[in-house]
This record gives sequence, structure tokens and C-alpha cells, in this order.
Amino acid sequence: MGDLIIVDMHTHSESSHDSICPIEEMRLSQIGKGTKIFAVTDHCDVDLFSDYDIYTPIKKAYDTVKQINENSKECLVLFGIEVSEGFWHLDEYKKIHDFVPYDVIIGSVHLVKFPNYEMAYSKIDFSLLTQETIYGYLDAYFNDMIHMIEELDFDVLAHLTCPIRYIIGKYRREINLKNFEDKITKILKMIISRGIALEINTSSYALINDSMPSRKILEKYYLLGGRHITLGSDAHISENASSNFDVALDMAKSIGFDYICYFKDRNLNKIKI
Ligand SMILES: [Zn+2]
Ligand SMILES: [Zn+2]
Repeated sequence: MGDLIIVDMHTHSESSHDSICPIEEMRLSQIGKGTKIFAVTDHCDVDLFSDYDIYTPIKKAYDTVKQINENSKECLVLFGIEVSEGFWHLDEYKKIHDFVPYDVIIGSVHLVKFPNYEMAYSKIDFSLLTQETIYGYLDAYFNDMIHMIEELDFDVLAHLTCPIRYIIGKYRREINLKNFEDKITKILKMIISRGIALEINTSSYALINDSMPSRKILEKYYLLGGRHITLGSDAHISENASSNFDVALDMAKSIGFDYICYFKDRNLNKIKI
């Protein structure tokens, strides 16, 4: 990727419930891949705040990132958080939002309060659902995303269309997102007007041979005037640091984007690509 400054704005560490990767291990892997800046954005599943302490892992990651940056200047580690389902618990969200100074807040929808399927969509066996139920589920997913954008203060919209990673990628169900074109357009217009960046999540290439959102949706975002994209590997293991960024960058450039963004102290910065 030449002299280009690569920034991975979405990674997980041992402060996430589904990762055991120390931040330092992720940093070494990022350095190995030539990445100059990356953000640690552990999960904060706000819906679970009454089940376990969601604050201690955030503080642990925050302290670790601070220490690493004090000890080394080789790769800037940004501190962020991936907040999901925050709009169901606005008081709790406010507490998390003000808990420590973040470089970036990523907004995600990981579960939908859809009858009988209220667990995270990564845990749903979509082979058991009728086509109609899957469309109903996706409709509820996009509604939740609209709700989140209306309600919360955050910087980057994560992995738009993520359930299809499981529905199409894992369970090979045939789904046409054309049915949701109006909702997706609405979401794109909303983030553009709110100044929220759109993440190109590269964790899906292996499963669906496309980014999340897809190239098609990114083209629409561009046509609507959207220019603020970030790259996110969503790596939960160090091997996946900045994975498929070369493919994603080529795609972004071919659509017309001429910079990628990163957030520091919650301010947007641009890097020419
Ligand atoms: Zn996520
Ligand atoms: Zn994530």
C-alpha cells in the first residue's frame, strides 16, 4: 500500500467478551502490516448492563492504550468503543458516553428485539426461519439502526447490513436487499446530514466476498454526497488486523472516494488515498 497511511478504525481486544487478544499483540500485528494508526474499539453491549459490569473492561482498555502510547510512538493506538443497543437505555448510554475521553465512538446494532429472536443475530440459526420472517427481521434491523442514528451521539456507523454476513454468508439463504432500498437510502442520508462516517467493514470478504456495506451501497452513499468513510477490520484476533484493506481501498478509489477518515479526540481527520 506504498506510502499511504493506513488506519484501522475497528479492532477488538481482551476487553471484549468475544476476544482474548491483548492490545499489544494487536499493535504488533498492525505494525507488521504497515498500519500506522489503529483504534481499539471493544464491545459495549449496553443492553447487557444489568447482567454484568460493562465499565471495568472499558477502563482497562483505556489505561492500557494510554500506557502503550506513552511507551512507544511506532504506531498510534486510538481509544474507542463499539456501542451497541445504546438507544434502548439512554441513561446508561449517557454514562458510558461520558465515562472516559474516547477518540472514537462506533455505533452498532448487534441484536434486534424481534419476537422469538432477541439474541444477537450472530447466534441465530437463520436456516430455521422462513423467508418472510427473515425479511421481517431485516426490516426490524434497519428500523433499529434508524432509531440509533436519531437518538445517539456517535462518530462511525459500523457494518451496515451485518446480519447478511450470517443470513447469506453462513446460512446461504437468498435475500434481496432491494426490498430495503428506501430504508438504506434513509440511513445514508441521515448519517451524511449528522456528520457520522460510514465504516467499510472488511471482516466479511471471506464469507460474502464483499465489504459491509457492499460496494453497491457505498456507490449510493457516494452519489448521495457521502464522503466520510473509515476502514475497519473488526479484527478479534491479531492475524486479522487491517485484513483486506488493499481490496477495500481499491474499491473505494474506484467508486470515487479520495480520502479515508479517522477520528482522534472525536474529531474527524482525512487521509488522501
Ligand atoms: Zn459489531
Ligand atoms: Zn466489532
